[in-house]
Amino acid sequence: MGATLTAGFLGDCSRCGERPSYYTRRYSGESLCAACFQETTVEKVKRTISKYGMLRRGDRVGVAVSGGKDSLSLLKILHRLNAGPGSNGRGELVALTVDEGVEGYRDEAIEHTRALCEELGVELVLVSYSDLFGFSLDQALDWKDDRELSSCSMCGVFRRRAIDEAAVRAKVDVVATAHNLDDYVQTFMMNLLHGDVERLGWLDPSTYDDDFPVRRVKPLTEVYEEEVALYAYLSKIPFQSASCPYMHEGLRSEVRDYLNELESKHPGMKNTLLKSSLSLTAKLKEATSKERMTCSRCGNISSSKICGVCRMKDIVAEHTSFGAGNR
Ligand code: SF4
Ligand code: ZN
Repeated sequence: MGATLTAGFLGDCSRCGERPSYYTRRYSGESLCAACFQETTVEKVKRTISKYGMLRRGDRVGVAVSGGKDSLSLLKILHRLNAGPGSNGRGELVALTVDEGVEGYRDEAIEHTRALCEELGVELVLVSYSDLFGFSLDQALDWKDDRELSSCSMCGVFRRRAIDEAAVRAKVDVVATAHNLDDYVQTFMMNLLHGDVERLGWLDPSTYDDDFPVRRVKPLTEVYEEEVALYAYLSKIPFQSASCPYMHEGLRSEVRDYLNELESKHPGMKNTLLKSSLSLTAKLKEATSKERMTCSRCGNISSSKICGVCRMKDIVAEHTSFGAGNR
């Protein structure tokens, strides 16, 4: 749980005034009981969806579910908004799950995903790296030592394509991913620190990505990571807490610690940073729009002549006995 979480029985809930308060939002001063905390979290997501025009009535929504706390909470919240009072019968949900092929890690997450989908009556579309690319992540990374390219940079390119593929198979209108407020501001800071100004323009919470055939939205953009974790805990959602063995965060974990420290000294700092980055992103978006083209090898939409997936497959083929047949 993050640095600013204050849990315990603190007095009356500032919203319902009936139940004892359980959690204090230091950035707003609200002290909430468990039920009001959950309710206000769902309401916040609903406001974000409406503010950015993320979902339209009747949309078939693919939710990218990895089996971690963020994506399972997102699925539960969207299901609640769909089925709850005043939902206006928004649309259908489909869970889109990728099996990267990491022995001893992914199976548990997929089980949690299956269990929640069954409980909520949500269809699950599962795709795997092996089926799509001809190799598992374990096989693709067999040679890697992280010197030239981090495992996550390579895996991320395949993951995005796998989600695209699942979205196409599931015939969804929009894909919702579970990036939370912390993910957003960390990515913003990382781009600044890497001098990658152009990418700041791609951080829109609701966007047509130039490399992606379907609209992508991030309904948890305005929810702190620790609040997503608390929502999962209070909603009794079993999720996988172990990290992927290939996860290599490097600078990101330092940025996370720094932002958590700032937030703990100055509650609300992450909210302010989110607002600044969203406004900068909106200004940069027009100026940095990428040219859309088609990959000359696989035919997928790409921002360059050969797409990132085909380039990564070349790297895998160069270092392993996999990938060459996919050219
Ligand atoms: Fe892939 Fe990195 Fe996620 Fe592991 S942590 S599944 S390597 S993106
Ligand atoms: Zn390609």
